[in-house]
Amino acid sequence: MPRFTGGCLCGAVRYEGNAEPVFTGICHCRNCQRATGSAFASVIGVPADALKITGTPKTFRDTGDSGKALLRRFCPECGSTLFDEAEAMPGVVMVLTGTLDDTSWIKPAMEIFCDSAQPWVALGGEMQRFPKMIG
Ligand SMILES: [Zn+2]
Ligand SMILES: [Zn+2]
Repeated sequence: MPRFTGGCLCGAVRYEGNAEPVFTGICHCRNCQRATGSAFASVIGVPADALKITGTPKTFRDTGDSGKALLRRFCPECGSTLFDEAEAMPGVVMVLTGTLDDTSWIKPAMEIFCDSAQPWVALGGEMQRFPKMIG
């Protein structure tokens, strides 16, 4: 049985994963705000080879803070943002947690790009906060 399953709003793209996330975090950068249409992105990072995708997401090639490519993958039918892949983080796929079938176990450990967080956003929990990228 897969550890987690999920998919886009219309169901054209589905996925399942069989690994423990290597990290769980929140990104407040402006590009994540635009890409999600929301205040921030919530992601789990999982090993790419542990993720099985059915359906074909469309890819937008964005540029991360590092200047390296950030691939944003979304459903071509309904527009749900599903996955981000950073060239700076090879072998890891970030899964947008809003697309998980069961979100009850998600516990973000960090917030990044807090410098561009929307002013009303104050998240609870014991998260490490970084002004920009980590490190
Ligand atoms: Zn869809
Ligand atoms: Zn971001």
